[in-house]
Amino acid sequence: MLRYITRLDGVAGMTWPARVVRDDDLLALYVPRGTTQMAWHQPPGESRRLVEREWRRDMLRLMFPGQAHSVWCFWEGEERRFTSYYVNLEEPFRRTAIGVDTNDHALDIVVNPDLSWSWKDLDEFEGLVARGTYSPEFGQAVRDEAERVVADIEARREPFNAGWDTWAPPAGWEPPRLHPRWRDEPAVLWERRTWAYRDAR
Ligand SMILES: [Mg+2]
Repeated sequence: MLRYITRLDGVAGMTWPARVVRDDDLLALYVPRGTTQMAWHQPPGESRRLVEREWRRDMLRLMFPGQAHSVWCFWEGEERRFTSYYVNLEEPFRRTAIGVDTNDHALDIVVNPDLSWSWKDLDEFEGLVARGTYSPEFGQAVRDEAERVVADIEARREPFNAGWDTWAPPAGWEPPRLHPRWRDEPAVLWERRTWAYRDAR
């Protein structure tokens, strides 16, 4: 189970089941399209809640111990056409009894197959810093992490030169399923959350 732990309350939010492709100096998780995951849904006038949703794209998620980002590989369609890398700024992951916990830091980088790139949700991220939801020091740490990854993209360094775009799952892998304790297993909180998030409880 890969879980996003909510900023305010420190409980399980968006959650994906995944197959473990590799787990050493790199944690590589595969979420095939058709996988049932938990996602936020907010009907007009109501508070948001978690609902089951079908994941739409083949995703391989490369996670690096101690680092505040992951790199996702996306494929689309029956022919599994590689469409992009996606750099997600996030909490360094922690191990749990059922998988790993992290949480999203709003800012992303979309990387095309030719390694041209663009920011995604930069406005949303800067708004969180401007409103004080993210502390100024944390905001700068996220920008610094993102700039290090941009340097890796532009220099065509790992993992962008490592052939992950041609990776394919072994034959016969069934879609992973949500663990029955995906919500109840206690979260392992990021030790810097009260430094980073002004509204963390
Ligand atoms: Mg993100």
